Amino acid sequence: MSVPSGACAFMSMRFLLAGYATAILAVMLSCAIAGRGVRRMRGLNWLMAALGSAFVGVVLIAARSHISNFFSIVVANVFIFGYYALLHQALADLLERDLRVRRLGLGLAVFLAGAFYLYGCHTDQLQVRIVIVCAVVAIQAGASLILVLGHEDEALRYQLRSVGSLLLAVLVFQVGRAIITLVWSPGSDFLQPNQLHAFMGFLYCILALAIVGAIIWLGVSLQQRELERLANTDALTGLLNRRAFDRIVKQELAGAMLEPESVCLVLLDLDYFKSINDTHGHQVGDEVIRQVGRLLGACTRSTDYVARYGGEEFAMLLTRINRPRAEAAAERLRCAISSISGLPEEIHTTASFGIAMNRAGENLHSFFARSDEALYLSKRSGRNRVQVHTGLLKPALVYTES
Ligand code: GH3
Ligand code: MG
Ligand code: MG
Repeated sequence: MSVPSGACAFMSMRFLLAGYATAILAVMLSCAIAGRGVRRMRGLNWLMAALGSAFVGVVLIAARSHISNFFSIVVANVFIFGYYALLHQALADLLERDLRVRRLGLGLAVFLAGAFYLYGCHTDQLQVRIVIVCAVVAIQAGASLILVLGHEDEALRYQLRSVGSLLLAVLVFQVGRAIITLVWSPGSDFLQPNQLHAFMGFLYCILALAIVGAIIWLGVSLQQRELERLANTDALTGLLNRRAFDRIVKQELAGAMLEPESVCLVLLDLDYFKSINDTHGHQVGDEVIRQVGRLLGACTRSTDYVARYGGEEFAMLLTRINRPRAEAAAERLRCAISSISGLPEEIHTTASFGIAMNRAGENLHSFFARSDEALYLSKRSGRNRVQVHTGLLKPALVYTES
Protein backbone atom coordinates (compact mmCIF):
# COMPACT_ATOMS: atom_id res chain seq x y z
CA MET A 1 0.00 0.00 0.00
CA SER A 2 1.25 3.54 -0.60
CA VAL A 3 0.27 6.86 0.88
CA PRO A 4 -2.17 8.44 -1.59
CA SER A 5 -1.41 12.14 -1.24
CA GLY A 6 2.30 11.79 -0.55
CA ALA A 7 3.11 9.17 -3.09
CA CYS A 8 5.17 11.68 -4.96
CA ALA A 9 8.44 12.70 -3.32
CA PHE A 10 7.72 15.06 -0.46
CA MET A 11 11.13 16.63 -0.20
CA SER A 12 14.74 15.84 -0.66
CA MET A 13 15.96 13.62 2.17
CA ARG A 14 19.38 15.17 1.67
CA PHE A 15 17.96 18.44 2.92
CA LEU A 16 16.63 16.75 6.07
CA LEU A 17 19.90 14.87 6.60
CA ALA A 18 21.84 18.12 6.38
CA GLY A 19 19.54 19.43 9.14
CA TYR A 20 20.19 16.31 11.29
CA ALA A 21 23.94 16.61 10.80
CA THR A 22 23.81 20.26 11.87
CA ALA A 23 21.68 19.37 14.90
CA ILE A 24 24.17 16.65 15.88
CA LEU A 25 27.06 19.12 15.62
CA ALA A 26 25.10 21.61 17.76
CA VAL A 27 24.52 18.96 20.45
CA MET A 28 28.22 17.99 20.30
CA LEU A 29 29.09 21.60 20.90
CA SER A 30 26.69 21.71 23.88
CA CYS A 31 28.37 18.56 25.27
CA ALA A 32 31.79 20.17 24.88
CA ILE A 33 30.55 23.28 26.72
CA ALA A 34 28.94 21.12 29.44
CA GLY A 35 32.25 19.23 29.70
CA ARG A 36 34.14 22.44 30.40
CA GLY A 37 31.69 23.40 33.14
CA VAL A 38 31.50 19.96 34.74
CA ARG A 39 35.01 18.62 34.60
CA ARG A 40 35.60 14.90 34.46
CA MET A 41 31.90 14.14 34.08
CA ARG A 42 31.65 10.40 33.69
CA GLY A 43 30.28 9.22 30.36
CA LEU A 44 30.90 12.50 28.54
CA ASN A 45 33.58 11.06 26.26
CA TRP A 46 31.27 8.21 25.33
CA LEU A 47 28.52 10.73 24.55
CA MET A 48 30.85 12.71 22.29
CA ALA A 49 31.91 9.48 20.54
CA ALA A 50 28.23 8.52 20.13
CA LEU A 51 27.42 11.86 18.52
CA GLY A 52 30.49 11.58 16.30
CA SER A 53 29.34 8.15 15.20
CA ALA A 54 25.82 9.45 14.42
CA PHE A 55 27.29 12.36 12.48
CA VAL A 56 29.41 10.08 10.28
CA GLY A 57 26.40 7.78 9.76
CA VAL A 58 24.15 10.64 8.67
CA VAL A 59 26.78 12.11 6.33
CA LEU A 60 27.33 8.69 4.71
CA ILE A 61 23.59 8.22 4.21
CA ALA A 62 23.32 11.70 2.68
CA ALA A 63 26.13 10.82 0.29
CA ARG A 64 24.10 7.97 -1.20
CA SER A 65 24.37 7.81 -5.00
CA HIS A 66 27.74 9.61 -4.73
CA ILE A 67 29.50 6.78 -2.92
CA SER A 68 29.13 3.02 -3.09
CA ASN A 69 26.10 1.36 -1.53
CA PHE A 70 28.40 -0.52 0.81
CA PHE A 71 29.44 2.74 2.44
CA SER A 72 26.14 4.57 2.25
CA ILE A 73 24.07 1.61 3.47
CA VAL A 74 26.20 -0.88 5.44
CA VAL A 75 28.87 1.38 6.94
CA ALA A 76 26.41 4.25 7.46
CA ASN A 77 23.98 2.09 9.44
CA VAL A 78 26.79 0.52 11.44
CA PHE A 79 27.71 4.05 12.52
CA ILE A 80 24.07 4.70 13.46
CA PHE A 81 24.03 1.48 15.54
CA GLY A 82 27.33 2.68 16.98
CA TYR A 83 25.47 5.74 18.24
CA TYR A 84 23.20 3.60 20.42
CA ALA A 85 26.03 1.28 21.46
CA LEU A 86 28.08 4.28 22.63
CA LEU A 87 25.09 5.84 24.39
CA HIS A 88 24.82 2.53 26.25
CA GLN A 89 28.48 2.84 27.27
CA ALA A 90 27.87 6.41 28.44
CA LEU A 91 24.97 5.26 30.61
CA ALA A 92 26.92 2.28 31.99
CA ASP A 93 29.78 4.65 32.83
CA LEU A 94 27.51 7.20 34.49
CA LEU A 95 25.64 4.61 36.53
CA GLU A 96 28.93 2.86 37.36
CA ARG A 97 27.83 -0.50 36.02
CA ASP A 98 30.44 -3.23 35.77
CA LEU A 99 32.37 -4.22 32.68
CA ARG A 100 29.96 -7.06 31.94
CA VAL A 101 27.10 -4.63 31.19
CA ARG A 102 29.36 -2.61 28.89
CA ARG A 103 30.61 -5.67 27.03
CA LEU A 104 27.02 -6.85 26.67
CA GLY A 105 26.07 -3.53 25.03
CA LEU A 106 29.01 -3.69 22.63
CA GLY A 107 28.49 -7.39 21.90
CA LEU A 108 24.84 -6.71 21.12
CA ALA A 109 25.78 -3.90 18.73
CA VAL A 110 28.30 -6.09 16.87
CA PHE A 111 25.82 -8.95 16.67
CA LEU A 112 23.02 -6.70 15.39
CA ALA A 113 25.30 -4.98 12.87
CA GLY A 114 26.29 -8.43 11.61
CA ALA A 115 22.65 -9.44 11.34
CA PHE A 116 21.91 -6.25 9.43
CA TYR A 117 24.77 -6.95 7.05
CA LEU A 118 23.65 -10.52 6.42
CA TYR A 119 19.94 -9.91 6.01
CA GLY A 120 19.56 -6.27 5.09
CA CYS A 121 22.28 -5.46 2.64
CA HIS A 122 21.76 -8.09 0.07
CA THR A 123 18.31 -6.92 -0.75
CA ASP A 124 17.34 -4.03 -2.96
CA GLN A 125 14.13 -3.61 -1.05
CA LEU A 126 14.25 -0.41 0.97
CA GLN A 127 11.21 -1.57 2.93
CA VAL A 128 13.03 -4.65 4.27
CA ARG A 129 16.14 -2.63 5.14
CA ILE A 130 14.16 -0.04 7.09
CA VAL A 131 12.34 -2.76 9.05
CA ILE A 132 15.64 -4.42 9.97
CA VAL A 133 17.20 -1.10 11.01
CA CYS A 134 14.09 -0.39 13.14
CA ALA A 135 14.43 -3.77 14.83
CA VAL A 136 18.14 -3.27 15.54
CA VAL A 137 17.66 0.21 17.06
CA ALA A 138 14.61 -0.96 19.05
CA ILE A 139 16.68 -3.79 20.59
CA GLN A 140 19.55 -1.41 21.41
CA ALA A 141 17.18 1.13 22.99
CA GLY A 142 15.55 -1.73 24.93
CA ALA A 143 18.94 -2.88 26.28
CA SER A 144 19.74 0.64 27.50
CA LEU A 145 16.24 0.96 28.96
CA ILE A 146 16.83 -2.21 31.02
CA LEU A 147 20.10 -0.69 32.24
CA VAL A 148 18.33 2.51 33.36
CA LEU A 149 15.36 0.69 34.92
CA GLY A 150 17.75 -1.47 36.93
CA HIS A 151 19.25 1.57 38.62
CA GLU A 152 17.42 2.70 41.73
CA ASP A 153 18.23 6.14 43.02
CA GLU A 154 15.41 8.04 44.66
CA ALA A 155 17.24 11.38 44.54
CA LEU A 156 17.72 11.12 40.78
CA ARG A 157 14.34 9.68 39.91
CA TYR A 158 13.34 12.49 37.54
CA GLN A 159 16.60 12.36 35.62
CA LEU A 160 16.46 8.56 35.35
CA ARG A 161 12.81 8.68 34.36
CA SER A 162 13.46 11.18 31.59
CA VAL A 163 16.28 9.06 30.11
CA GLY A 164 14.13 5.92 30.49
CA SER A 165 11.06 7.58 28.92
CA LEU A 166 13.03 8.76 25.90
CA LEU A 167 14.57 5.31 25.40
CA LEU A 168 11.10 3.81 25.62
CA ALA A 169 9.85 6.40 23.14
CA VAL A 170 12.63 5.44 20.70
CA LEU A 171 11.77 1.77 21.15
CA VAL A 172 8.03 2.33 20.59
CA PHE A 173 8.77 4.67 17.70
CA GLN A 174 10.93 2.07 15.96
CA VAL A 175 8.30 -0.61 16.35
CA GLY A 176 5.66 1.79 15.00
CA ARG A 177 7.94 2.83 12.15
CA ALA A 178 8.55 -0.79 11.19
CA ILE A 179 4.80 -1.48 11.13
CA ILE A 180 4.06 1.68 9.13
CA THR A 181 6.87 0.84 6.70
CA LEU A 182 5.38 -2.62 6.16
CA VAL A 183 1.88 -1.23 5.61
CA TRP A 184 2.75 1.91 3.61
CA SER A 185 5.72 1.37 1.39
CA PRO A 186 8.39 4.06 1.62
CA GLY A 187 8.94 3.72 -2.15
CA SER A 188 12.26 2.66 -3.59
CA ASP A 189 14.39 5.78 -3.09
CA PHE A 190 15.34 6.60 0.48
CA LEU A 191 16.44 10.09 -0.59
CA GLN A 192 12.98 10.93 -1.98
CA PRO A 193 10.61 10.06 0.89
CA ASN A 194 6.91 10.72 0.97
CA GLN A 195 5.36 13.02 3.58
CA LEU A 196 4.80 10.29 6.15
CA HIS A 197 8.31 8.89 6.00
CA ALA A 198 9.89 12.33 5.98
CA PHE A 199 7.92 13.19 9.12
CA MET A 200 9.00 9.95 10.81
CA GLY A 201 12.63 10.69 10.01
CA PHE A 202 12.23 14.14 11.52
CA LEU A 203 10.63 12.77 14.71
CA TYR A 204 13.32 10.10 14.99
CA CYS A 205 16.09 12.70 14.91
CA ILE A 206 14.45 14.76 17.67
CA LEU A 207 13.95 11.69 19.91
CA ALA A 208 17.46 10.37 19.35
CA LEU A 209 19.08 13.70 20.23
CA ALA A 210 16.77 14.39 23.18
CA ILE A 211 18.27 11.30 24.86
CA VAL A 212 21.67 13.02 24.89
CA GLY A 213 20.14 16.03 26.66
CA ALA A 214 18.56 13.76 29.29
CA ILE A 215 21.83 11.85 29.79
CA ILE A 216 23.71 15.14 30.28
CA TRP A 217 21.11 16.20 32.86
CA LEU A 218 21.66 12.88 34.66
CA GLY A 219 25.45 13.24 34.46
CA VAL A 220 25.47 16.83 35.72
CA SER A 221 23.15 15.88 38.61
CA LEU A 222 25.37 12.94 39.56
CA GLN A 223 28.45 15.14 39.42
CA GLN A 224 26.75 17.81 41.49
CA ARG A 225 25.84 15.24 44.12
CA GLU A 226 29.36 13.86 44.18
CA LEU A 227 30.80 17.36 44.68
CA GLU A 228 28.35 18.02 47.51
CA ARG A 229 29.31 14.71 49.09
CA LEU A 230 33.00 15.58 48.87
CA ALA A 231 32.38 19.06 50.29
CA ASN A 232 30.56 17.53 53.27
CA THR A 233 32.82 14.56 53.95
CA ASP A 234 35.99 14.18 55.97
CA ALA A 235 38.55 12.57 53.69
CA LEU A 236 40.25 10.43 56.37
CA THR A 237 37.19 8.83 57.99
CA GLY A 238 34.39 9.32 55.47
CA LEU A 239 32.31 10.89 58.26
CA LEU A 240 30.70 14.33 58.01
CA ASN A 241 33.14 17.20 58.19
CA ARG A 242 32.85 20.21 60.48
CA ARG A 243 31.11 22.42 57.90
CA ALA A 244 28.36 19.89 57.19
CA PHE A 245 27.98 19.04 60.87
CA ASP A 246 27.55 22.69 61.89
CA ARG A 247 24.86 23.12 59.27
CA ILE A 248 23.00 20.05 60.52
CA VAL A 249 23.23 21.13 64.17
CA LYS A 250 21.84 24.54 63.21
CA GLN A 251 18.90 22.92 61.43
CA GLU A 252 18.20 20.46 64.23
CA LEU A 253 18.38 23.20 66.86
CA ALA A 254 15.90 25.29 64.88
CA GLY A 255 13.60 22.28 64.62
CA ALA A 256 13.85 21.58 68.37
CA MET A 257 13.49 25.25 69.36
CA LEU A 258 10.45 24.50 71.50
CA GLU A 259 11.62 21.11 72.69
CA PRO A 260 14.44 21.52 75.20
CA GLU A 261 16.41 18.43 76.19
CA SER A 262 15.48 16.56 72.99
CA VAL A 263 18.81 16.88 71.12
CA CYS A 264 22.22 16.04 72.52
CA LEU A 265 25.59 17.32 71.32
CA VAL A 266 28.49 15.01 72.13
CA LEU A 267 32.10 16.15 71.71
CA LEU A 268 34.84 13.62 72.22
CA ASP A 269 38.58 13.93 72.03
CA LEU A 270 41.08 11.07 72.01
CA ASP A 271 43.31 11.05 75.07
CA TYR A 272 47.07 11.56 74.84
CA PHE A 273 46.90 11.21 71.10
CA LYS A 274 50.06 13.15 70.55
CA SER A 275 52.03 10.37 72.24
CA ILE A 276 50.55 7.82 69.77
CA ASN A 277 51.84 9.95 66.92
CA ASP A 278 55.19 10.47 68.61
CA THR A 279 55.68 6.78 69.46
CA HIS A 280 54.17 5.05 66.42
CA GLY A 281 54.19 7.68 63.69
CA HIS A 282 51.59 9.78 61.96
CA GLN A 283 50.36 6.98 59.70
CA VAL A 284 49.51 4.80 62.67
CA GLY A 285 47.81 7.81 64.27
CA ASP A 286 45.71 8.21 61.13
CA GLU A 287 44.70 4.57 61.27
CA VAL A 288 43.59 4.95 64.90
CA ILE A 289 41.46 7.99 63.93
CA ARG A 290 39.98 6.02 61.03
CA GLN A 291 39.07 3.06 63.22
CA VAL A 292 37.53 5.19 65.95
CA GLY A 293 35.50 6.98 63.25
CA ARG A 294 34.31 3.63 61.90
CA LEU A 295 33.31 2.51 65.39
CA LEU A 296 31.36 5.71 66.06
CA GLY A 297 29.56 5.44 62.73
CA ALA A 298 28.64 1.82 63.44
CA CYS A 299 27.46 2.43 67.01
CA THR A 300 25.01 5.26 66.35
CA ARG A 301 21.41 5.23 65.15
CA SER A 302 20.34 6.26 61.65
CA THR A 303 18.82 9.42 63.15
CA ASP A 304 22.17 10.48 64.68
CA TYR A 305 24.97 12.42 62.97
CA VAL A 306 28.66 11.73 63.40
CA ALA A 307 31.47 14.04 62.30
CA ARG A 308 35.20 14.33 62.58
CA TYR A 309 35.33 17.79 64.03
CA GLY A 310 39.06 18.40 64.19
CA GLY A 311 42.31 16.41 64.27
CA GLU A 312 41.42 13.70 66.79
CA GLU A 313 38.18 15.23 67.92
CA PHE A 314 34.76 13.89 66.95
CA ALA A 315 31.28 15.36 67.32
CA MET A 316 27.94 13.61 67.40
CA LEU A 317 24.41 14.90 67.37
CA LEU A 318 21.93 12.52 68.95
CA THR A 319 18.42 13.52 67.95
CA ARG A 320 15.04 12.60 69.47
CA ILE A 321 16.63 11.63 72.74
CA ASN A 322 16.38 12.54 76.44
CA ARG A 323 19.14 13.16 78.95
CA PRO A 324 19.36 9.69 80.58
CA ARG A 325 19.43 7.94 77.21
CA ALA A 326 22.02 10.39 75.86
CA GLU A 327 24.26 9.84 78.88
CA ALA A 328 23.92 6.08 78.53
CA ALA A 329 24.73 6.27 74.81
CA ALA A 330 27.84 8.36 75.45
CA GLU A 331 28.98 5.99 78.15
CA ARG A 332 28.47 3.01 75.83
CA LEU A 333 30.63 4.75 73.20
CA ARG A 334 33.31 5.58 75.75
CA CYS A 335 33.50 1.89 76.77
CA ALA A 336 33.53 0.81 73.12
CA ILE A 337 36.49 3.07 72.33
CA SER A 338 38.47 2.00 75.38
CA SER A 339 37.99 -1.66 74.48
CA ILE A 340 38.52 -1.26 70.73
CA SER A 341 40.66 -4.12 69.45
CA GLY A 342 42.71 -4.57 66.33
CA LEU A 343 44.38 -1.18 66.43
CA PRO A 344 47.84 -1.16 64.85
CA GLU A 345 50.71 -2.17 67.14
CA GLU A 346 48.13 -3.11 69.80
CA ILE A 347 47.61 0.49 70.77
CA HIS A 348 45.14 1.11 73.54
CA THR A 349 43.26 4.36 73.23
CA THR A 350 40.60 6.15 75.24
CA ALA A 351 38.49 9.25 74.73
CA SER A 352 37.04 11.99 76.91
CA PHE A 353 33.46 13.05 76.33
CA GLY A 354 31.59 16.30 76.89
CA ILE A 355 27.86 16.33 76.30
CA ALA A 356 25.10 18.93 76.45
CA MET A 357 21.34 18.77 75.93
CA ASN A 358 19.76 21.61 73.97
CA ARG A 359 18.03 24.44 75.78
CA ALA A 360 14.90 26.20 74.52
CA GLY A 361 15.88 28.65 71.76
CA GLU A 362 19.60 27.90 72.11
CA ASN A 363 21.94 28.87 69.27
CA LEU A 364 24.80 26.88 67.74
CA HIS A 365 27.54 28.83 69.46
CA SER A 366 26.14 28.35 72.95
CA PHE A 367 25.39 24.66 72.34
CA PHE A 368 28.99 23.97 71.28
CA ALA A 369 30.43 26.15 74.05
CA ARG A 370 28.58 24.12 76.70
CA SER A 371 29.64 20.74 75.22
CA ASP A 372 33.18 22.01 74.92
CA GLU A 373 33.14 23.18 78.52
CA ALA A 374 32.01 19.71 79.60
CA LEU A 375 34.77 18.13 77.49
CA TYR A 376 37.36 20.42 79.03
CA LEU A 377 36.25 19.39 82.51
CA SER A 378 36.32 15.74 81.48
CA LYS A 379 39.98 16.17 80.48
CA ARG A 380 40.81 18.05 83.64
CA SER A 381 39.13 15.38 85.77
CA GLY A 382 41.42 12.64 84.51
CA ARG A 383 40.21 11.76 80.97
CA ASN A 384 38.39 8.64 79.71
CA ARG A 385 35.09 9.82 81.15
CA VAL A 386 31.76 11.30 80.18
CA GLN A 387 30.92 14.73 81.44
CA VAL A 388 27.45 16.19 81.04
CA HIS A 389 26.84 19.92 81.06
CA THR A 390 24.03 20.48 83.48
CA GLY A 391 23.38 24.05 82.54
CA LEU A 392 25.18 25.35 85.61
CA LEU A 393 28.41 27.24 85.32
CA LYS A 394 30.46 24.26 86.41
CA PRO A 395 29.16 21.00 84.98
CA ALA A 396 28.74 18.09 87.37
CA LEU A 397 30.75 14.95 86.92
CA VAL A 398 28.40 12.11 86.14
CA TYR A 399 30.65 9.28 85.08
CA THR A 400 34.14 8.32 86.01
CA GLU A 401 36.46 5.70 84.64
CA SER A 402 35.13 2.28 85.52
P1 GH3 B 1 44.67 15.23 75.34
O1 GH3 B 1 44.42 14.00 76.09
O2 GH3 B 1 44.80 16.44 76.20
O3 GH3 B 1 43.69 15.45 74.27
O4 GH3 B 1 46.11 15.05 74.66
P2 GH3 B 1 46.41 14.95 73.14
O5 GH3 B 1 47.84 14.59 73.00
O6 GH3 B 1 45.44 14.07 72.46
O7 GH3 B 1 46.05 16.40 72.68
P3 GH3 B 1 46.76 17.46 71.83
O8 GH3 B 1 45.76 18.45 71.37
O9 GH3 B 1 47.92 17.97 72.59
O10 GH3 B 1 47.26 16.69 70.56
C1 GH3 B 1 46.45 16.29 69.53
C2 GH3 B 1 47.36 15.72 68.51
O11 GH3 B 1 46.62 15.15 67.44
C3 GH3 B 1 48.27 16.73 67.87
C4 GH3 B 1 48.41 16.30 66.47
O12 GH3 B 1 49.71 15.85 66.19
C5 GH3 B 1 47.49 15.12 66.35
N1 GH3 B 1 46.68 15.18 65.14
C6 GH3 B 1 45.82 16.13 64.78
N2 GH3 B 1 45.26 15.81 63.60
C7 GH3 B 1 45.80 14.63 63.19
C8 GH3 B 1 45.64 13.78 62.07
O13 GH3 B 1 44.85 14.03 61.15
N3 GH3 B 1 46.36 12.65 62.02
C9 GH3 B 1 47.23 12.32 63.02
N4 GH3 B 1 47.90 11.18 62.91
N5 GH3 B 1 47.42 13.09 64.07
C10 GH3 B 1 46.71 14.24 64.19
MG1 MG C 1 43.40 14.65 72.40
MG1 MG D 1 42.41 17.49 70.50
